[in-house]
Amino acid sequence: ESRKVVNFSPGPAKLPEEVLDRAQKEFLNYNNTGVSVMELSHRSSDFTKIIGNAEKDLRDLLDIPDNYKVIFVQGGGTGQFSAVPLNLIDLKEGATADYIVTGSWSAKSAKEAEKYGKINRVLPKTDKYTVIPDQSQWKLNPDASYVYYCSNETIHGVEFQFVPETNGVPLVCDMSSNILSKHIDISKFGLIFAGAQKNIGCAGATLVIIREDLIGFADPVCPILMDYKTQVGNNSVYNTPPTYSIYIMGLVFQWIKEQGGVHQMELNSKKKSSLLYDIIDNSNGFYQCPIERDSRSRMNITFRIGVNEEDEALEKRFIEEAHQSGLISLKGHRSVGGIRVSVYNAVHVHEAERLVDFMRDFQRVNQ
Ligand code: PMP
Repeated sequence: ESRKVVNFSPGPAKLPEEVLDRAQKEFLNYNNTGVSVMELSHRSSDFTKIIGNAEKDLRDLLDIPDNYKVIFVQGGGTGQFSAVPLNLIDLKEGATADYIVTGSWSAKSAKEAEKYGKINRVLPKTDKYTVIPDQSQWKLNPDASYVYYCSNETIHGVEFQFVPETNGVPLVCDMSSNILSKHIDISKFGLIFAGAQKNIGCAGATLVIIREDLIGFADPVCPILMDYKTQVGNNSVYNTPPTYSIYIMGLVFQWIKEQGGVHQMELNSKKKSSLLYDIIDNSNGFYQCPIERDSRSRMNITFRIGVNEEDEALEKRFIEEAHQSGLISLKGHRSVGGIRVSVYNAVHVHEAERLVDFMRDFQRVNQ
């Protein structure tokens, strides 16, 4: 059953209606236990099944090879900005890492990593993130412990359309805002992490997929909770994990399977994003997307409004009138302004169409 409001929030973001319905049905009495999932011990057989099934469904969806471990931890994407260098910077003598900074989130993670080792920023410094420069322009350090990038920059709306080639140096990726939206070859990565609250669930749980041979190199000062060896060795229950968020994640994985898997998510996201980019590009400059075509995100579509220059009054009216029409959470991030439309997996194609219709009408009345 669909709700009246369409939620284009960048995160925490829309969840599938079916997932919320099911969580509601099971809320007071999970699987005839007589209690809520929230009230189950993290060591009970019911919760062990919940986390085990979540992992299994994720492995099916992403075709994760056996030499990769999957853990569910706390601390969000930001927690991983610290955990990655604390665990991996000492993989090689010299403790250096390459960071491909293409937006605010990779910039933040590079800044955090600098506390623990020597960071090489592969791309020239900028604060105008509108493109992923071609790999032929990068200078990667062959002696780096790892190469880090963010596959989709949620704030600016830039997304990698390729996986960087690192010639054997472990590749680390922040997939917080595009995981499970398209096919990826896991074997190309050393480590992938993703906060739950955009494409895979509600806030609280963070997913980490790590290749076995990269486990066990944590710096001695690494907090025990951030040590991948602790988390992997204890199947994510060294201490109490975010049990309810893991349960919701599991329901989202089941929902994706029922929809036709990652393949179907990718088809939907191509459709939703092209609908939006098409109306922007065919608006005679009324809507302007600052991101270069080959770097445009399929998850977060960013644009400005105004015939000659961006017009903040017009943007404000756009957001207000859209809200009145039930199209909510369209305001761009406070650091960049403008409009941002987030169309994660749970947003239906027909919901993106509703926004496109609104945009057409808005242009007609306001240009
Ligand atoms: N990485 C990306 C790509 C993000 O979009 C975000 C949050 N918007 C983060 C990291 C930080 O995540 P958290 O708030 O879970 O720490």
